[in-house]
Amino acid sequence: MEDGQPPIILWFRRDLRLSDHPALAASLATGRPVVPVFLCDDLVHTMGAAPKWRLGLGLEVFGRALNDIGSRLILRQGDALEQLQRLISETGATDVYWSRAYDPASIARDTKVKSALKEQGIEAKSFAGHLLFEPWTVATKAGQPFRVFTPMWRAVQGREVPPPEAAPTRLIAPAYWPTSDDLATWHLGAAMNRGAKIVKPYVQPGEQAALDHLEGFLNRIANYGADRDRLDLDGTSNLSEYLSLGEIGPRTAWHRVQRAAFEGTQGTGSFLRQLVWREFAYHLMYHTPQLVSGNWKPEWDAFPWNEARDAPEVKAWLQARTGIPVVDAGLRQMYVTGRMHNRARMIVASHLTKHLMTHWKIGMEWFEDCLIDWDPACNAMGWQWVAGSGPDASPFFRIFNPVTQQEKFDPKGAYLNQWIAEGRPKPSETALSYFEATPRSWGLNPKADYPPPVVDLPTGRARALAAYERRKNQ
Ligand code: FAD
Repeated sequence: MEDGQPPIILWFRRDLRLSDHPALAASLATGRPVVPVFLCDDLVHTMGAAPKWRLGLGLEVFGRALNDIGSRLILRQGDALEQLQRLISETGATDVYWSRAYDPASIARDTKVKSALKEQGIEAKSFAGHLLFEPWTVATKAGQPFRVFTPMWRAVQGREVPPPEAAPTRLIAPAYWPTSDDLATWHLGAAMNRGAKIVKPYVQPGEQAALDHLEGFLNRIANYGADRDRLDLDGTSNLSEYLSLGEIGPRTAWHRVQRAAFEGTQGTGSFLRQLVWREFAYHLMYHTPQLVSGNWKPEWDAFPWNEARDAPEVKAWLQARTGIPVVDAGLRQMYVTGRMHNRARMIVASHLTKHLMTHWKIGMEWFEDCLIDWDPACNAMGWQWVAGSGPDASPFFRIFNPVTQQEKFDPKGAYLNQWIAEGRPKPSETALSYFEATPRSWGLNPKADYPPPVVDLPTGRARALAAYERRKNQ
């Protein structure tokens, strides 16, 4: 060891950054060598195709960022506890630090890891960093978790958010570097098929790209409140994939935007509110972990959701050929770019769960496979919010009309032009790229006629409302 002190293993997960990183700052403060590690365990193996591929891009960039400060990212594959124990015996480390995760599967893994390491005399410590507020530090006046967004938003306004730590310029290397897997051998992009080539130009991974995105967005933030719902405008921050992988910390975004507000920039309040929606999603997932696996309101278990993935209307939705242009446009945008506009997410989710009366879990899992900004809490909350089965949800009987939604939020049809090819004399490149990205087995052809609706909107609406009334009266 460089100075004879045992190293600290810093286990990176969804926190691929150097700044605003309490666990990293705590390691540095000890003055001891640090061994940065990423483990490809079951939780990584079971990720959806696009987020797993995006993780691989992030790891590549993050490894280089660590090289730049004299360090390395050690990659190991297998059970997390076993791999950490192996690294401990190889390096002589006495401590393992990591940033906390809040989804039920990570909590179960981390609890097991922490108690096993502690039992063998290792200092296993978890830190904040993924959220502005730890879920157990925010509560109603009665000391209960929040179940409604607005009171939580009010409760956190004025609360202090610790300032983000600066990125270190050097990390002390251990005397001995353990071996690392070659990232390419993990094949994190294997399930992306033809899609990777198409999605790649839309992705700029890494912490620096995230910080650049934030700065770029500050030039547009004044119009955020008005533009954020417009499908045809780039009115939002596009920070979600960075927040999701932890390439930027929420405290960095919070403080930078607060500074802009202090300097007189308009529009900052609506953006901070959205950041707190993310907090709300995590708050709910932590306190009611069933958010990610079942109807948050159990009375929805009795609803006659269609759960057959191979039903023709479900297949049409998954393949973005429902015959409702704005729904197909949103789904195609996701397939080609790995992201979807928030308004479109609500429209496609409403169409699936209401007009097509299909279980929100099918849509949630499809998003989990296709979104490079996939986030366990925001995705589950978003789906249950739209379906009506979640906390503080939009009521089921409020059914979005996709046609009027499109007229309102894409008044000139620019979003449709961008994503729909069929029936257009000169389809846009982006619209055509959907056909290059999708598997050949789907048999899609941009020169075909645009399909008629798989379910006629008034019929789908009436059917959903009737089922809702029946469930209510049961
Ligand atoms: P901005 O408008 O710039 O917002 C800034 C940040 O605030 C976002 O990056 C995000 O972290 C947070 N935020 C904004 N809106 C929401 C919201 N409604 N709920 C929770 N956090 C929010 N977001 C994800 O990050 N990952 C997901 O997997 C995801 N799945 C969704 C599924 C459905 C059905 C719905 C309706 C929403 C989902 N969202 C998800 C929330 C939202 O659509 C995205 O966060 C947003 O579109 C990201 O774009 P942006 O970064 O430009 O957002």
